[in-house]
Amino acid sequence: MAAVARPAHAQGAPDRAGRAAPSGRDTHCPYCALQCGMTLTPAQDPGPDGGVSPPVVVAPREFPTNKGGLCQKGWTSASLLAASDRLTVPLVRDRTVDAAGVVTRGELRPATWDEALGRVADAIGVIQAESGRDAVAVFGGGGLTNEKAYALGKLARTVLRTANIDYNGRFCMASAAAGANRAFGADRGLPFPLADLAGAGAVLLLGSNLAETMPPSVQHLAGVRERGGLVVVDPRRSATAALTGPREGPPQGIHLQPVPGTDLVVLLALLHVVWAEGLADDEYLAARASGVEDVRRAVAAWWPERAETVCGVPAGDLRRVARLLAAASPARGGRGAYVLTGRGVEQSTQGTATVTAAINLALALGLPGRTGSGYGAITGQGNGQGGREHGQKADQLPGYRTIDDPAARAHVAAVWGVHPDSLPGPGRPAVELLRSLGTPGGPRALLVHGSNVLVSAPDAMRVAERLDALDLLVVCDLVPSETALRADVVLPVTQWAEEEGTMTSLEGRVIRRRQAVTPPGDVRSELWVFAELARRLGSTVPFPLDPVEVFDELARASAGGVADYSGLSHARLDADEATGGPGLYWPVPATKPGGEAHPGTPRLFLDRFHTPDGRACMVAVDHVGPSDDLRPDAPVYLVTGRVLQHYQSGAQTRRVAELERIVPGPFVEMHPILGFRLGIRDGDPVRLTSARGDVRAPARWSDDIRTDTVFMPFHWSGAGSVNRITTDATDPISGMPEFKVCAVAVEPDTGVETGPFVDRMPERSEEVVA
Ligand code: SF4
Repeated sequence: MAAVARPAHAQGAPDRAGRAAPSGRDTHCPYCALQCGMTLTPAQDPGPDGGVSPPVVVAPREFPTNKGGLCQKGWTSASLLAASDRLTVPLVRDRTVDAAGVVTRGELRPATWDEALGRVADAIGVIQAESGRDAVAVFGGGGLTNEKAYALGKLARTVLRTANIDYNGRFCMASAAAGANRAFGADRGLPFPLADLAGAGAVLLLGSNLAETMPPSVQHLAGVRERGGLVVVDPRRSATAALTGPREGPPQGIHLQPVPGTDLVVLLALLHVVWAEGLADDEYLAARASGVEDVRRAVAAWWPERAETVCGVPAGDLRRVARLLAAASPARGGRGAYVLTGRGVEQSTQGTATVTAAINLALALGLPGRTGSGYGAITGQGNGQGGREHGQKADQLPGYRTIDDPAARAHVAAVWGVHPDSLPGPGRPAVELLRSLGTPGGPRALLVHGSNVLVSAPDAMRVAERLDALDLLVVCDLVPSETALRADVVLPVTQWAEEEGTMTSLEGRVIRRRQAVTPPGDVRSELWVFAELARRLGSTVPFPLDPVEVFDELARASAGGVADYSGLSHARLDADEATGGPGLYWPVPATKPGGEAHPGTPRLFLDRFHTPDGRACMVAVDHVGPSDDLRPDAPVYLVTGRVLQHYQSGAQTRRVAELERIVPGPFVEMHPILGFRLGIRDGDPVRLTSARGDVRAPARWSDDIRTDTVFMPFHWSGAGSVNRITTDATDPISGMPEFKVCAVAVEPDTGVETGPFVDRMPERSEEVVA
């Protein structure tokens, strides 16, 4: 769509001091995919800290996902704008080579944009001339706006012309996407509005701790809890599992606490019971699904007593849950039921199989494609949904098109003004890409956008080695993250309230991010960085700087794709919101058949699934188990996750004093029984050792966790950075790593080295020259 003037309510630019427009700016939280609505208004005079107070005040705003609520991260998000170590100028690191050929890396020092970008462009030119196009790789992020994610993919495919682009969404949504695409022909995390959960009779929630990661979403579970229909599957009695009711008292649901890595067995047993007890919706299956008999045969072997021996969930509980879900299903006259998955079951080498089993269960009960019922995956990152739709994934082009589809290549190439044959093919998925850095034949340069892989990637010490083997590491970021501190060039870019754009929430709702303050120092938008790099690399492919224009181009590129945004523009989204609308759900084609504007699609699959024959595909799957299972020298399961106060790698939330005060560092949650057995008391220093290395953190006793399992949050760097010991084994279909379970030895930390561990990732924060 053509660029149009901004609507009146989008006017009111921030003043030159960086303060918000006096009337306030309606926008959304910078963090998770719930994208809570908030309003930013100018702060009063700087506080007693002499001007480092946040320039805006956050107020929650009524929006369908948060219903006027915010979590602690949202309330304190304005502090991000006043981070004391905010990057405000480019940084470069010089390398010297002595007579013997030994390379010495200097410290990061301030530079002009001209020097920094010149250095990047020159190095890319040399590396690609010597080693080919794919010698330069790109790593994106699920927090980038749709506009930036789209432009990053376009930069990789048209200017760098490298196949090697992927993003950190591979760590969090790839298995859900692979499972949904295979079953339904389309992947939209929730193919229905979140608010639909309120009317359900039952909700089965597998591997999601949403009460801690996105607390306002719990409001949507109030109804199902009142009806006693909430079922939570988690090895821990997490905040979400606790919503099923007190241990003593009236139940609001059921908590199943399986052995880590056996969620698939739970699902196979539930399916077994559904068929064994005649609870399946046979009419629905006959009309809307294929592959039914294969799945029915495959689950015949998973009767509940057998499943109990593997997953540890009592057979009676498995039967109870299957009956509860069936009673709520439309076929049996129930109010409706939902099956929802999260990272706890998806971050596994059998993540796609587990998602497939969850979808099989939902299909057997006749749930997907019906109002008031369904299957969905709960997206984590702020733009984890849009980020995977518009071209920063190794195998995709904008509009959720596959990169090896000739028609898709031709369409997108025409929008970009290049020949389809010039576009590279599929690249390496994230973990494989990171492993290949600096290896013979692998990329020699990496551009990182919106990602802190040294904390968030599995087997992080190996990642550090690979980054250090590069000839050029470029990081665009807001703050000196651990990854930025290892870079050769660091480019300071705009964040959240400093930029315009769009995000796509966990429900596929496209919403507006609005600028409230001017960026500090010499900070630039990544859209400008992409345009400058293209120019310096001699490309004639246009890279607009205005997010309005970028979105219009994205909309054209997405036209006709699965994620069709062609009926959207910033102007339409602004107008929708100005009239009380809450954003539009994709697909939003340019027009409806009658010619009027398409209203968007809150609920997918009501008439047919997005497969060639319109039927959902059931696929038989079976349990294999974790890649790194228990053994005598590693007899305890480690599971990882988040805490309420921190977000992902912590690069942002660790800089918010209020949040740091509450949870200042990592901990090892363990059951007191395990603690007694190992001689570890509450608060004692603990050392966890896996096949990849070790980490250290204080013990935190809790009877909410299994006695064979410990839990660590993953938000920190240094000796307590748990991803130093997680495995980088990946799902064979999705390429998603198995963050959620590995085998560890647990022992008191005496401070004495007892094993082969060598800390290969020293901190480098001291290397920044301010
Ligand atoms: Fe809402 Fe998520 Fe932000 Fe918390 S972090 S306020 S749940 S968007």
